[in-house]
Order: sequence, then structure tokens, then C-alpha cells
Amino acid sequence: MSSSSARTPSEFTNPNLETLFTAEQIQTRVTELGAEIARDYVGRNPLLLGVLKGAVIFTSDLVRAIDIPLGLEFIAISSYGAATRSSGEVRIVKDLDVPIEGRDILVVEDIVDTGLTLSYLLANLRARGARSVKLTALLDKHERRLRDVPIDYLGFKIPDAFVVGYGLDFAERYRNLPYIGVVINPET
Ligand code: 5GP
Repeated sequence: MSSSSARTPSEFTNPNLETLFTAEQIQTRVTELGAEIARDYVGRNPLLLGVLKGAVIFTSDLVRAIDIPLGLEFIAISSYGAATRSSGEVRIVKDLDVPIEGRDILVVEDIVDTGLTLSYLLANLRARGARSVKLTALLDKHERRLRDVPIDYLGFKIPDAFVVGYGLDFAERYRNLPYIGVVINPET
């Protein structure tokens, strides 16, 4: 096989994925959220707290849409692993590097599903004496909620489907997709 005829299979046009939100739709919404957050937090130097790993791409795009001074930190909490349903077990895997007493915290999460992870994390942050703790989430899978978690800045509401891309994985795959899609045939 000559190198000119060799084709690299495209992950981004993988036939097992159905697009839910295009890269353009996501960027438009993230820009809107950033402008709203900048208006609400002007003069407050908020600390944006991205939740690893799923929210890393959303966080990177969001901070570049917020045109005011801010701080950026990351925290890692346990989530699904390789399974597609929440275990309900929550623990902090990588904690914050700075004290948050008196700070305005804005947690940046990829998706709120049952709400178990976020209700634990938000309570934990409030207990550390933050001045305020609010939440922005790109996706809200509201049908599956078990704990009430108010989302202050929401990207999109979605139906009960397992989504990947734009930071979200399926067994660590697909985080690099520039769009958000649904896995239509996980077996192949
Ligand atoms: P919750 O505690 O709200 O049930 O779960 C939240 C976490 O589960 C999210 O931060 C995310 O890591 C994971 N999760 C929930 N739904 C999905 C989904 O549709 N796709 C992916 N890739 N992860 C999800």
C-alpha cells in the first residue's frame, strides 16, 4: 500500500456517533455563558473551579469567554469510570491547591446527571467558608436527577442518553471530539 493511498480512519466522523451539538453550537453557547458570567461577577475576581477530567475542555473555552479578572483551579472527583451509570460513590481524588475562604467560587462541570456528585461537591466547598458557591454546567440530563442541584449557568438541557465528546468520555475515549455526540452502538 502506497503512503498516498493510505487512509487514517477518522475519529471525528466515527459512524458509531450521532451528533447532538456541533462545535459551532457549543462555541456560540459558551460565548453567551461567558458574557453572562462576566456581567454577574464584575469586580469580584471569581475562582473558577473546573472538575477534571470531563469539564477540562468546557473550562478552557469558558474562561476565554469571560473578560474580567478571575482565578482558575481544578479538582478531581470520582465518577463513572468505564461504566455508563453513576455508582453514587463520590470522593475527592485531587483537591484544591488554594484556600477558598471568602472567595466567590464558580464550579465548572461537564454534565449534571443524577446530581449526586455535584450535591456532594457543592456542600463540601460551602463548608470551607467560600463567600459564594455557584455552578455552571454545559449539559443537564434533568430526567435522571436524584438530588436537587441548581445550575446557575446552563449550556444545554439534554435527554437521557449517554453523551461523549468535548471532554466527555466513554471508557476514556472520545474526549477529543470537537462536538458532542451520542454513542449509538457501543459494542463496535
Ligand atoms: P452525577 O453524579 O450527576 O450522576 O454524575 C455526574 C458525572 O457523571 C459527570 O460529571 C460525568 O463525569 C458523568 N456522566 C454523567 N452522564 C454522562 C454522560 O452522558 N456521558 C459521560 N461521558 N459522562 C457522564
